[in-house]
Amino acid sequence: MSDARAAGGEANQATTLSSGSAARADSDLAQLISARVRDIADYPQPGIVFKDITPLLADGQAFAAAVAAMAAGHGRIDKVVGIEARGFILAAPVALSLGAGFVPVRKQGKLPGASYAESYRLEYGTATIEVHTDAIGPGERVLIVDDVLATGGTAAATASLVRRSGGEVVGVSVLLELGFLDGRASLPGLEVMTLLTA
Ligand code: AMP
Repeated sequence: MSDARAAGGEANQATTLSSGSAARADSDLAQLISARVRDIADYPQPGIVFKDITPLLADGQAFAAAVAAMAAGHGRIDKVVGIEARGFILAAPVALSLGAGFVPVRKQGKLPGASYAESYRLEYGTATIEVHTDAIGPGERVLIVDDVLATGGTAAATASLVRRSGGEVVGVSVLLELGFLDGRASLPGLEVMTLLTA
């Protein structure tokens, strides 16, 4: 969890849309998801608006639609990396739907085998995440999946771990982007796909 502060209360909006029926489909999906992502004020600390995806996960149809959309449009993917912990819930079904492997990126000290570690700055202090050194093969095409893109620090550190492992980062796929934090600026040259921007 970063110290990203959400500007509370306003409705989520659909991201950039193409035209015609594709735009309508994107808009319908955005509605489906935004109605099932709940704002929790002052969690886990005062000033944070937490984007709670558990209502979405509890709705089988909406969960399936979100996973299908997050998996689409990336070409061949060899590994899907999920970021602890909510990223795991989305990345595993995305990997299954793509016929790809799933790789967990975990907080420091949680992985049992030899790991690469990457530290990054939070608003107060630092965080460290890790990946097993043998989880991604040289040249493998990797999709990074998480629930929320906030400042982008976690996704940027994950991209570094993938590259140190020899993988090629194809893109970052998230359910929800906190647009006002401009997390994309931390991910230069990477395709960032989001189903909603808040
Ligand atoms: P960041 O590194 O700032 O992009 O933060 C991204 C990570 O923190 C993701 O793994 C999110 O699950 C979590 N996160 C950050 N801000 C929020 C928020 N407002 N609501 C829910 N999760 C958040």
